[in-house]
Amino acid sequence: MKVLIIGRGLSGRSAGDLLERENVEVVFAAHEDIEKNEFEKEYLDRLFSGLSFIVTSPGISPKIELIKQAILRKIKIIGEFEFGSKFLKSDIIAVTGTNGKTTTVSLIHHILKGFEHSVFLGGNIGIPVSSLVGKDNKNDISVLECSSFQLENIKNFSPKIAAILNISPDHLNRHRTMKNYVKCKFNITKKQTEKDYLILNADDEFLFETPPKTKAQIFFFSTKKRVKGCYVKRNCIYFNDNQKEEKLVSLRGIKLVGEHNLSNILCACLAVFLQTKNKELLKSISGFTAVSHRIEFVKKISGVEFYNDSKATNISSTIVACKSFKNNIHLILGGSDKGYDFDELFKNLPKNVKNIAIFGETRHKIAFSAQNCGFVNYKICDSLEDCTKYLFKKSREKDIVLLSPACASFDCFSNYKERGNFFKKIVEDISDNENINSKKTKKL
Ligand code: ADP
Repeated sequence: MKVLIIGRGLSGRSAGDLLERENVEVVFAAHEDIEKNEFEKEYLDRLFSGLSFIVTSPGISPKIELIKQAILRKIKIIGEFEFGSKFLKSDIIAVTGTNGKTTTVSLIHHILKGFEHSVFLGGNIGIPVSSLVGKDNKNDISVLECSSFQLENIKNFSPKIAAILNISPDHLNRHRTMKNYVKCKFNITKKQTEKDYLILNADDEFLFETPPKTKAQIFFFSTKKRVKGCYVKRNCIYFNDNQKEEKLVSLRGIKLVGEHNLSNILCACLAVFLQTKNKELLKSISGFTAVSHRIEFVKKISGVEFYNDSKATNISSTIVACKSFKNNIHLILGGSDKGYDFDELFKNLPKNVKNIAIFGETRHKIAFSAQNCGFVNYKICDSLEDCTKYLFKKSREKDIVLLSPACASFDCFSNYKERGNFFKKIVEDISDNENINSKKTKKL
């Protein structure tokens, strides 16, 4: 048996290791072959000769020529995510959505630490599903974060519990239309059965009004209303299955900020409760702190708090981050272009965003939208460092300086983590004494 792997990143290498453990011959596509638009027939005959199937990494677009050629030759193609999940023995809790996936799966994983069997975390969070194979048993649980790329060409993936957190425009440079993007997200439930559960966010207008077609039993979560599923009442989370209402856990002592995180908490509690029926486990939610780079508190300098939300790589995540604070915000925006219309951002920014500093590839596009929407307190800067220093100067005691860029990072950094760490370093380097006496409490 011979398998071709396209993509030599973590996922591709992990699938390769799994196949080699099964004594399968593995070949990796050359980097040039992934980029090429034309192939000699003889070359492809050789490359595809004797192949049983192809495994692709999530970062590889299904539109590349090499994949088109494989499809023409009717070679079976499977994504690493689905390939790995076929070998898992444990129940799968799978979470997708535009924003909040990592926070929610991490929280589910955190809650399930008290579970009597082993619990694994994987998928888009940076742990390939193939790397979990062989570790899990029948009574265990695997919590998987699923991106739209991983769900794009799913055929038989069937989680016991699937959750869709929210849907707003993202990755349109790869999916081209919103319709395609939604279709990928909805694939999470395509093969679920009547025994499975699908969790949806009742506060997401789109999901509530146009839920996916599914055989699974649907449960909702909501921060605003009583639903079949989980909701908030008197600062506690309640569960209702249309037969009886049950108090699950108190929200006292929760460390995550913002309404969006309340949604993530509700989704996580609902998933765990549907899976285990054990509400004792949920008590651990108060011990969970923000995952790095997601509205992560960095430092307080001269009364000004700095937050790192480098993972906010689209407009809706930046809006929710800004809505998480009541004090004045000085916001850093900009990065590489994913094709957004930034007017949407400025139309929805809360009034407490007082100043904006913009850097990176999208700086002029964002500035244009700011002007278009009548937001005048913006400045185009040369770098993230200049943005941070400029906004620190503009801020007063009790204000927030927030990096929540609404853009990907690839123009200046290798990923959002590098960008977030660089921001933290800039903040650390700002002297504690700088401006210490010049910060005034008066409002801007
Ligand atoms: P993902 O894995 O889907 O990218 P993360 O949990 O990493 O999501 O959070 C990324 C950013 O998205 C956060 O920094 C925050 O600004 C925003 N965010 C988190 N949860 C939600 C949510 N439920 N709804 C909207 N935005 C959210």
